[in-house]
Amino acid sequence: MIIFGPQGSGKGTQANKLAEKFNLSHLETGQIFRDIAREDSSLGRKIKELNENKEMIPDQITVEVLRHFLELVPSEKGVILDSAPRTFGQIEPVEKTMQEEGRTIDKAIYIALSYEESVARITKRFACTKCFRHFVLGKDIQDSSENCPTCGGLIMQRGDDTPDGIAKRLKTFYEVTMPVIEHYRAKGMLIEVDGKQGVEEVFEDILRGLNKE
Ligand SMILES: [Zn+2]
Repeated sequence: MIIFGPQGSGKGTQANKLAEKFNLSHLETGQIFRDIAREDSSLGRKIKELNENKEMIPDQITVEVLRHFLELVPSEKGVILDSAPRTFGQIEPVEKTMQEEGRTIDKAIYIALSYEESVARITKRFACTKCFRHFVLGKDIQDSSENCPTCGGLIMQRGDDTPDGIAKRLKTFYEVTMPVIEHYRAKGMLIEVDGKQGVEEVFEDILRGLNKE
């Protein structure tokens, strides 16, 4: 399975729930690249540099990293790919890599959320700088100046969750990733769900979509 959605759509949460329910490996390319960027290797340094310059990671690197992680998953275990293929140009190499690893893409899930709702949700997201727990303003914490309810650490917004950062990432999603989603829609593989609902309702809609045939 592959899963798509703009920031704030709850894509990561749904991917985790699907991974648990169907015993899948959850491969999230964004997280993988953040981990690699911390490594003192030539690839780590290259990715760190691209991140710092807010440049997109070249398709070729994405595909190679994906291959490496696919090889680590036992062949009998399914995979949920989060944010790959991320660009139209990645569709072919990603599908080819999967094929070479004995896998096929069966379903594509798209959690749709309006631009305004994405912005509203992202600006409410905070995280503890000490224990890294996530909090939603107005729900888990009432004021952004509060300390972490769990460990007392300092709570902050993510560094790139500024209005400019959010707008840039959403623009990239709609310009770069939307054509990939449309590709899978045209192939009749897409399950689109309304991301404005609660976590459980979204999950139920995805399961209904998966059971449809
Ligand atoms: Zn904390």
